[in-house]
Amino acid sequence: MLSDIFVAFANTRPLRSRMLSARATPIRAALSIVLAAIAYAPHACADAIVNDVTQLNPIHVRELVAPTRIEAIIEAVKNHPGPISIGGGRYSMGGQTATDGALQIDMRRFAQIVSFSKENKVITVQAGITWRKIQEYIDPYNLSVEIMQSYDNFTVGGSLSVNAHGRYTGLGPIVLSVKSIRLVLADGSVVMASPTENSDLFNGAIGGYGALGVIAEATLQLTDNVRVEEHSQLMPLSAYRAFFDKNVRDNRNVIFHNADIFPTAFDVVRVTSYTKTEKPVTISDRLTPADRDYSSNRRVVEVVSEWPGGKWMRQHVLDPWLYRKSAVEWRNYEASYDVRELEPVSRKLSTFVLQEYFVPASRIDEFVPRMAEVLRRHHVNVINISIRHSRQDPGTYLAWARSDVFCFVIYYKQGTAESARQEVQGWTRELIDRAISEGGTYYLPYQILATKEQFHAAYPRAWDFFKLKKRVDPSNKFRNRLLDAYYETGDAPRMSGSGYPSPRQDSVSTSGFTGSSGAPSPPFHRLPVGSPFR
Ligand SMILES: Cc1cc2nc3c(=O)[nH]c(=O)nc-3n(C[C@H](O)[C@H](O)[C@H](O)COP(=O)(O)OP(=O)(O)OC[C@H]3O[C@@H](n4cnc5c(N)ncnc54)[C@H](O)[C@@H]3O)c2cc1C
Repeated sequence: MLSDIFVAFANTRPLRSRMLSARATPIRAALSIVLAAIAYAPHACADAIVNDVTQLNPIHVRELVAPTRIEAIIEAVKNHPGPISIGGGRYSMGGQTATDGALQIDMRRFAQIVSFSKENKVITVQAGITWRKIQEYIDPYNLSVEIMQSYDNFTVGGSLSVNAHGRYTGLGPIVLSVKSIRLVLADGSVVMASPTENSDLFNGAIGGYGALGVIAEATLQLTDNVRVEEHSQLMPLSAYRAFFDKNVRDNRNVIFHNADIFPTAFDVVRVTSYTKTEKPVTISDRLTPADRDYSSNRRVVEVVSEWPGGKWMRQHVLDPWLYRKSAVEWRNYEASYDVRELEPVSRKLSTFVLQEYFVPASRIDEFVPRMAEVLRRHHVNVINISIRHSRQDPGTYLAWARSDVFCFVIYYKQGTAESARQEVQGWTRELIDRAISEGGTYYLPYQILATKEQFHAAYPRAWDFFKLKKRVDPSNKFRNRLLDAYYETGDAPRMSGSGYPSPRQDSVSTSGFTGSSGAPSPPFHRLPVGSPFR
């Protein structure tokens, strides 16, 4: 995504030594014991404001705990009388980690490696751990996380709970790389879940936004940390699908692949693949340096988003310069971007936000012009649209890949004023309509703007998911803004004929799914812009 553009601008300062003098003194020893005790004690505080990376969603929680042991998680879940929400890295963008007056369990200090097998290429971790910490641990064994996002700042629990994906070819939703999870349910019981054991809980918790319980541990598939060579070329969007089918889809040598659509014409793509190679690396860092300076990236984003002709400059000047040479690098390097590279100086008046739409692979040529028309008509300040491909989801309840899909990740800038937010709601609902009418979906970790009707059309198994939640969390303990917007304890409506376009049945495969997929859309009425259902 954007990192593809900006990475070459980054300053490759050597890692600063953080080593303290090795000379130990009794005072230092005592100090380390006190610091360790502070670091590992469960933290708690009352009345906190929880927000996310966009700074658009401040939520007042009643209490916040940051457990370091599973017993503390169980105790909090069992004994807290009111609503509970779960926070990971807080990079979701619509209040998915909190709800007003809840207890937030901040998982970020529950972050140890539990076990690791180099031979079997599997690792078990506590769910508050970040991908970065895992990468630092496994890189010396020349292993790599099989599926994750492009950035490594996210927690494992937060990534599993949205069923994240990356740019890996031949793969797709992260559920494909999860061997099992350990889940703390609303009554405090702890269960193992996997594709074969408690599979309903497994398929509900992955992509379940913390609705069923706390994912405490996860066992994940690893893979080899191979060297990859970058290849990049420009082509008309109309040629992309044939190119992808011929060169990428079944090519096991292509490790990462994506295509960036240039705004504002949205008809040319830069197609970039990273293929397995035995060539020596041209970037010697094995992981993206943690202390890299990203100030030049900020200037580039400023130019692209604000300058007259900034988007033209990106396409015709910056990009050709950045892609003039092919890098050879480690898989782990390419999988360890840092979200700091995207962070603007301020998010007070405007902020950078993501959205994502998924359409069956066969519908790309129909969807893109319709998406582009909405973006242009509403003058959306699009910085980049990254296309990725994903295999079909094996059966999670809130699957976003009900067939093989192309994913469209839109990175754009918006104002923070209420009027700007209303505008975003309007065009977002139009884009959701367009994705649904192609048999597609939209992604749930971002701003909660879809109507209930759109949510159910995009996630046809939501009623089955709600039924499962009602069974394992009868008092609706686990809550957050996303669940507050859509969760209902009643039965699925039987009527059809809402007037809402049904997903295209010809292009949506339901194999691997059970339950009510393919059921008619529930009879919700379309809500006017400005409704509280976001
Ligand atoms: C710059 C940027 C780039 C991104 N790129 C991608 C991408 O390439 N692909 C992609 O798929 N997504 C991408 N995302 C979205 C990202 O994957 C999600 O926002 C993800 O949830 C972030 O993880 P987190 O640890 O911050 O989760 P949080 O935002 O903290 O939590 C997300 C959800 O998970 C729940 N949760 C967290 N931990 C647990 C747990 N232990 N048990 C149960 N529930 C839990 C929370 O309650 C919440 O509902 C991107 C986001 C940003 C900001």
